[in-house]
Amino acid sequence: MYFSKFFVPTTKQEPSDAELASHKLMLRSGMIKKTAAGIYNWLPIGLRVLKKVENIVRNSMNAFGAQEILMPMVQPAELWKESERHDEYGKELLKFQDRSERDFVLGPTHEEVICDIFRSYPISYKELPVNLYQIQTKFRDEIRPRFGVMRSREFVMKDAYSFDINEDGLIESYENMKKAYIDAFNKIGLDYRIVKADAGVIGGDVSEEFHIVADSGEDLIAISDSSDFAANVEVLDYSKDPSELNGQKSPDGVGKLQVKRGIEVGHIFQLGKKYSEKMKVSLKNEKGKEQDLYMGCYGIGISRIVAASIEQNHDDKGIVWPYSIAPFHLNIICLDPNKKEILEECESVYKILKKSGHDVLLDDRDVRAGIKFTEHEMLGIPFSIIIGPNNFNKNNYEFTEREGNVKSELNIDEIKQKLEELK
Ligand code: ATP
Ligand code: MG
Repeated sequence: MYFSKFFVPTTKQEPSDAELASHKLMLRSGMIKKTAAGIYNWLPIGLRVLKKVENIVRNSMNAFGAQEILMPMVQPAELWKESERHDEYGKELLKFQDRSERDFVLGPTHEEVICDIFRSYPISYKELPVNLYQIQTKFRDEIRPRFGVMRSREFVMKDAYSFDINEDGLIESYENMKKAYIDAFNKIGLDYRIVKADAGVIGGDVSEEFHIVADSGEDLIAISDSSDFAANVEVLDYSKDPSELNGQKSPDGVGKLQVKRGIEVGHIFQLGKKYSEKMKVSLKNEKGKEQDLYMGCYGIGISRIVAASIEQNHDDKGIVWPYSIAPFHLNIICLDPNKKEILEECESVYKILKKSGHDVLLDDRDVRAGIKFTEHEMLGIPFSIIIGPNNFNKNNYEFTEREGNVKSELNIDEIKQKLEELK
């Protein structure tokens, strides 16, 4: 991509209505633009990151046997009345009518629709387990939308639903999804904890959340200082204040608890028969007896992950993207694009790297070098090379790693090799 032709509306000013580093940086780097409270546009550079997160999650889901579908956002209210969530879900559920005054809701989650799909086919128990997922826009009329896409009203979620004939099957499907999540979050480069959780309005018996530990998190989680144990404080006992848990013995017997703030990026549930009983999702088991199915559901906040990743990966100059979700891998900073031979050399390097499958940006804009450097740092592209009057037509380029500002002199083959290793 040529920067001069790329729509990246960066701004220098601090946005007045943003508190979190991620929110400020997403606005300043032209990733997102607000249209209404909690409702955002994804602009080109933001969308590139969102799509990378989506694709990593998609590949992990596929690798662990889930199949992608796409369900409607608009859902008939009757389905929600059947599950008894039409009232229970509360004001986050946006209700409306069509021109014939039929009642609908805008989907905040899809248990009802998936049950309606599943119950309408004569499926044999031998075909189970089945796990279907989608990556889709959800709407929740959040009481306090804030922090940009971290807690918005419209957001992109990956939601998956598994169906099993018995509880053992459900546990297997659940553990399988947990592995898919670990795979995806590792590839996205998040530093996360798996946290025991309360199932809330979604319901069910067992649930765990995936949290990113960050001071800006809205949840409080208690973490053992010497084991993997972590739990949302809502499932632990304390009398008044969760900070009482600090220093207490960890429930797994290993180490002491520390209460920290977390950002929930994923949530997996063993729903059991909560929905299948109410919505009559059943089939004949091996004894020929009609049996309600055991369900699991599994969510990942795709758009929230983009913000959460920035919370974990930034410095005072801007974003520091992990390679796997960076909008571009490398930025070629052209210092004098008006000089034909310099621009040509930049273009030739650009073509070589693109041909090897790397996402490359070429900053060919006719602006001051200082602006190019500052914006490069704000945008968080992992690597840059500088080509200008002092070094063009030489073998080596000044190659800089955004993280830690590590500089080296590399030739084109060494640059290719370096990027190849990270693929
Ligand atoms: P929260 O406690 O943050 O409201 P939740 O328990 O309501 O989350 P789920 O219903 O489990 O969330 O949804 C699955 C995932 O979708 C969450 O783990 C989170 O990452 C994401 N998510 C939920 N609500 C929002 C929101 N308002 N904005 C952005 N992402 C969200
Ligand atoms: Mg919620």
